[in-house]
Amino acid sequence: MHDGLPDLSMPNEEQVHLAAESFRMLADPTRIRILWALLQGESSVTCLAEFVGASATTVSQHLAKLRLAGLVRGRREGTFIYYAAADTHVRALLAEALFHADHTDRDLADDRDHEHALPAARGGLSSSGPIRNS
Ligand SMILES: [Zn+2]
Repeated sequence: MHDGLPDLSMPNEEQVHLAAESFRMLADPTRIRILWALLQGESSVTCLAEFVGASATTVSQHLAKLRLAGLVRGRREGTFIYYAAADTHVRALLAEALFHADHTDRDLADDRDHEHALPAARGGLSSSGPIRNS
């Protein structure tokens, strides 16, 4: 019946559930802004609130949920907590989502040489200017 996909192996129940949960967590413009800001480096609630143009209370609530979902981690230093994106996969998720949005927005073909003019993130994505053909 499904001869077309003989070697297809599906992720297990738990993996699918957790991936869906991650997408659910990311389905919010403010959270995407927060995570994008965190890709530039560690940040505090106060700084993040300024970056994303939301109140510290709102940012705190988003961070708590993102942290529970394993997308963000916190590091306590005295009375401050510094937040960062959990790992390189979170970077990749955000980058790909924004690149894909760029494709949709600019009606870009995947096989044509193109650039993505997203702000460069420290530590992984792009350290020097626009990313080519990604
Ligand atoms: Zn692209």
